[in-house]
Amino acid sequence: MSTASTLVQLAASLTSGAVRVIDLTQTLSEDTPLLVLPEPFGQTAAFSRQEISRYDERGVAWHWNNFTVGEHTGTHFDAPVHWVTGKDLPANTVDALPVQPLIAPAVVLDFSAECAADADFLLTAGHIVEWEAQHGAIPAGSWVLFRTDWSKRDVEAYTNRAPDGPHTPGPDASAILLLIDRDVIGFGVETIGTDAGQAHGLTPPYPAHTLLHGAGKYGLQCLENLDALPTTGAIVIAAPLKIRDGSGSPLRVLALVEG
Ligand code: MN
Repeated sequence: MSTASTLVQLAASLTSGAVRVIDLTQTLSEDTPLLVLPEPFGQTAAFSRQEISRYDERGVAWHWNNFTVGEHTGTHFDAPVHWVTGKDLPANTVDALPVQPLIAPAVVLDFSAECAADADFLLTAGHIVEWEAQHGAIPAGSWVLFRTDWSKRDVEAYTNRAPDGPHTPGPDASAILLLIDRDVIGFGVETIGTDAGQAHGLTPPYPAHTLLHGAGKYGLQCLENLDALPTTGAIVIAAPLKIRDGSGSPLRVLALVEG
């Protein structure tokens, strides 16, 4: 009896459609919404492009562009060096981090109903413990994807800015400490930041960035199609650009799902 190798089986499953590939990436464009920090802080650059040629005198048979973009613009990856708490960790930049975990299982925590009712919804350790009672313990090495359905909103409702800052959901410190205890690879969200819009007022401020990156964990932001994923059982491929000493990068995030 011969048994096909794991990769031969995977290749056959991809060809047959038994394993499907779901795109979790927002389209990157000049319209991509940005995180806006209050004065006097520096700002991430919007995506912009400069045409080099388009089948014209600048290049008769070829079309290409240069582009400018912030490391933290659009669907993007946060490396530990992004936050001061992770600045002295080993392998804390996108070029240095180990590649093996960049293909990892994912669990989806669906709190879209709660977030529809409360834009400032905070995910707590209690919510996660309840989720685990239903779906099983979050496995070490997993991405934890926080489904809010925020990516389905129009730009104004997506950024949800107000005079006191943005109002978008996120985790509190207890949730992040529990995820670190579970030894997840990172935390992925649909919103612009892994932290809630009002996270400057939490303890510590920006608990996702402060605690996750201090523990060597990663972040994914501006994801979409989380509603197309199973609660457990998906595999996420999230490999940032290999920018020397980079703190993060835009990337294509793909998920493999069965059935
Ligand atoms: Mn970021």
